[in-house]
Amino acid sequence: MQTLAQHAGAARAVLLLSRDDTLSLAAEVTIDGEGTRVSLPDDGKWSAAVPEGLIRFALRTGETVLVDDAAADSRFQHDPHVALHRVRSVLCLPVVAHARLKAALYLENNLMARVFAQARLDLLELLATLAALSLENARLYADLQNREYRLRRLFEVDVIGIVLWDLDGRLLDANQAFLNMVGYSREDVENGAMNWFEMTPPEWRDQVVLEMDEIRRTGALRPIEKEYFRKDGTRLPVLMGATAFDESVQQGIAIVLDLSQQKQAEARALAIERRNRMLHAELAHTNRLVTMGHLSAWIAHDVKQPLAGLVTSANAGLRWLAANPPNIEATVRALERVMRDSARATDILDRTRALMRKAPARVEAVDINAVIDQTLSLVAAEADSKGIGIVLALHPGPLFAAAERTQLQQVVLNLLINAVEAMDADAAGHPRELRVVSGLDPMGRVVVEIRDTGPGLPTADGKDCFEAFFTTKPRGLGVGLAICRSIVEAFGGQICALPNPPRGATFRFLVPAR
Ligand code: ADP
Repeated sequence: MQTLAQHAGAARAVLLLSRDDTLSLAAEVTIDGEGTRVSLPDDGKWSAAVPEGLIRFALRTGETVLVDDAAADSRFQHDPHVALHRVRSVLCLPVVAHARLKAALYLENNLMARVFAQARLDLLELLATLAALSLENARLYADLQNREYRLRRLFEVDVIGIVLWDLDGRLLDANQAFLNMVGYSREDVENGAMNWFEMTPPEWRDQVVLEMDEIRRTGALRPIEKEYFRKDGTRLPVLMGATAFDESVQQGIAIVLDLSQQKQAEARALAIERRNRMLHAELAHTNRLVTMGHLSAWIAHDVKQPLAGLVTSANAGLRWLAANPPNIEATVRALERVMRDSARATDILDRTRALMRKAPARVEAVDINAVIDQTLSLVAAEADSKGIGIVLALHPGPLFAAAERTQLQQVVLNLLINAVEAMDADAAGHPRELRVVSGLDPMGRVVVEIRDTGPGLPTADGKDCFEAFFTTKPRGLGVGLAICRSIVEAFGGQICALPNPPRGATFRFLVPAR
């Protein structure tokens, strides 16, 4: 640029480079009494340094603009730069150094007119091209260094494995992250001991053929999950994607993400879920056994009566028949009592079977009042024997819930048994009342409350009671309420425990209405 300015006799020389259709000031040389100064501005702003219109004209037409005396030329004298600096001789050379690079060399002299002669133009053009090229090369080189630096940084990250591969299976280079994943050393890479095809377990090799096919066709491989052998023969689950360097698709780069931790976490989650499911099945079974205990006590109590009645009536019948003369009328009455008692026993057994049947959990319209009625009859005798009074405040008429009968019976039975046990364990001297309420809440859901006047909830908010194995009873299992909750929630409902002022606990559950 200095040579150029001196050679041309310019007081200022400015080189503008055009890239992506934007023009920027690349270099400026000023020659005056103090010497020659060269500046390479950072921001590339140029419009104040040159007559803008003139430069644009030269670039647009691709023609050299030679102005003998700009300050006196009506085309340019109003340009702010020309007017401000009283610019006289001007030369603007558009330069197309190669297909993509465009530049403009601008020379001016403010002291003299007609400084730039036509004859020197060829040489100036050559010098300008050289200047533009060297500047462009310097920039490209800096870009390249920058890009290489960034690639290096990427290569050095320690979370993502990066591998340079070729299609023959060779592993040309790998970053430390990848080497750590697979347990190889840098020497292994350098000795060519790593071959990604051999590192692929046999059952994945068919897949590799497809992968190579995809790379050949599209130049890239979409991310896939697969496995590699580590150096010690163990397996490494990974997510990997690859892309080829160029159209020949012989070499490329692959990004590899270690999935072993995720896979372990998944396996752990699966194991926990399986354990939970087993626990739940066990809990359900245990609960069934508890229920069975109550049922057998109830059957013994309730079925014994009709059975005893049967025996008495049958004996009476036999006696009336054996009498002389046989009392037919009384025999018929005794047989009628036999019929009635056996019908009662059958009914009890039917209801028991219905309760115990492991019916599938299908949602049907279940009259919650009928469920309460039926389940209460299971605990009524026990409650009575413990001096507990039962008060019902049921919704008038049937109240249909969208649930399954036997499962709702389980819930109600558990809550009733808990209430009875709570009051039974309580110190004497308190009124013992078991109150069962049913109705609809403001959102139209079926709500059931089982209230007792026992000692109240063991914890302030009553949430702990629903945790599996939470129990305050010496021989408790702590599973009843956990099961109640899982049943109620399975039907889209809720269950909670609240205080029952002035004394005792309220267990309330909601299920959708039908
Ligand atoms: P378990 O009866 O075997 O202890 P549950 O799940 O039925 O198991 O109940 C858990 C705990 O919740 C009980 O041990 C008790 O502390 C508390 N609980 C349940 N029902 C009542 C109630 N009606 N009044 C006071 N506490 C209760």
